Amino acid sequence: MTSQKKPRKVIPIVSDTSQEEFVSLYEAQKKIYPRSTSGYFTNWRWITLWITQVVFYGMPWLEWGNRQALLLDITTHRFYIFGLILYPQDLIYLAVILIIAALALFLFTAVAGRLWCGFSCPQTVYTKIFLWIESKIEGDRAARIKLDSAKLSVNKVFKKWLKHFVWISFSMWTGFTFLGYFTPIRELIQNIMHVSLGPWETFWICFYGFATYGNAGFLREQVCKYMCPYARFQSAMFDKDTLIVTYDEERGEPRSGRSRNVNAKEKGLGDCIDCSFCVQVCPVGIDIRDGLQYECISCGLCVDACDSVMDKMDYPRGLIRFSTQNGISQHWSKHEIVQKILRPRVLIYSAVLMLLCIGFAVSLGLRSSFTVDVLRDNGVMSRLVPDGNVENVYRLQITNATELPETYRISVSGLKGLSVVSKKEFKVKAASSRMFSVSLQILDGSTNSGSHKIMFEIDAVGKPEHVSEQSIFYLAR
Ligand code: SF4
Ligand code: SF4
Repeated sequence: MTSQKKPRKVIPIVSDTSQEEFVSLYEAQKKIYPRSTSGYFTNWRWITLWITQVVFYGMPWLEWGNRQALLLDITTHRFYIFGLILYPQDLIYLAVILIIAALALFLFTAVAGRLWCGFSCPQTVYTKIFLWIESKIEGDRAARIKLDSAKLSVNKVFKKWLKHFVWISFSMWTGFTFLGYFTPIRELIQNIMHVSLGPWETFWICFYGFATYGNAGFLREQVCKYMCPYARFQSAMFDKDTLIVTYDEERGEPRSGRSRNVNAKEKGLGDCIDCSFCVQVCPVGIDIRDGLQYECISCGLCVDACDSVMDKMDYPRGLIRFSTQNGISQHWSKHEIVQKILRPRVLIYSAVLMLLCIGFAVSLGLRSSFTVDVLRDNGVMSRLVPDGNVENVYRLQITNATELPETYRISVSGLKGLSVVSKKEFKVKAASSRMFSVSLQILDGSTNSGSHKIMFEIDAVGKPEHVSEQSIFYLAR
């Protein structure tokens, strides 16, 4: 029997007395039991899952010299990114990194749709891990449905307890790893082993741990559907040449169940055998045959599921496939679809992204390995010293952004006869800041009274690096 495409359901509530019809805007949440599948995209999801997780769990353990390679140390206001050390004044670099990441996501979305969501997003990756644990303990889709609807028994309680125990243990390890990006992870594990974890560290491990447990164990696809802002604004980046997972309606309809021996062409049937395998494997619980939907995370599982059905039926693969709206409607070949990738929107995103990356690399390359802040000593504006000179006192803060101790030499320019009378060379330890007092003097009467612009010239001894900082020398009337 041929079944037609079903319209989406609304729940009419008819009042007996008034005969008015109300449509409920609230849709009761149904638990989704995704069925496992195998195939090309399933394999790729496992590959990206392993890569992202090995990087996430392994990165905090990587060493660079005698410190953690990647450490965002908020308490000391230093971000260590391999050989690079960023200070609060370098926050612009972090801002640019975030802008580059956002723009790369725009570009990627314009070209390949929501591949990020389906293959790399932490929410979908952790949901996949949690589902895998669930299926190992409770069984695949049918077994899980059966277990959930079964009466309370020792077997049910044990399986549920075991699942939640593994989920919580895994979540806590995730919370611990996450905190390891902000606190040296080796210290953190020592503190755990000696039961001397601080209250804030305990709080953040539990916070991130339970966020993982809640999001991947319970909220799952609802995060993608209702909470993720990317799902909402991605439609602004889509056009008819963006890669999406799509059902070939022209080829599939009219859909109908049948045996392998039936000649579909003779019966006027499409290739969809209405087995609902594509719906059962979908982690967000949608039917891709209803058309492009914002819930779809482009995970490709329905493609694998349908291809396996097509193989069994001896039909060509690709009834559900990655394609574009134009590709499907105009029957384009793969080559024609790929050719359309280089469209104006993609070229503009690419050009802006490239400019930003080049600007970022150049600015990072020219970045000085030390910074200087000059503060006037407001307590002593200007004073006459016994040898007939006028003196101003300054406080210089030098930040050494390298991983070796450095010596800095200070001189002054901008006012004839002005010289540094205090110590001229200062040592600063690796990756640290020091404050120094510097006195400048000039012969009284050698220049006009009032404010004079001067420059502090600071050189890193034995290096070609130089920093100039402006200040004011004041001569009282
Ligand atoms: S419709 Fe297909 S590609 Fe989209 S989320 Fe569901 S299974 Fe993944
Ligand atoms: S898996 Fe393929 S054949 Fe089965 S219902 Fe989905 S589209 Fe139709």
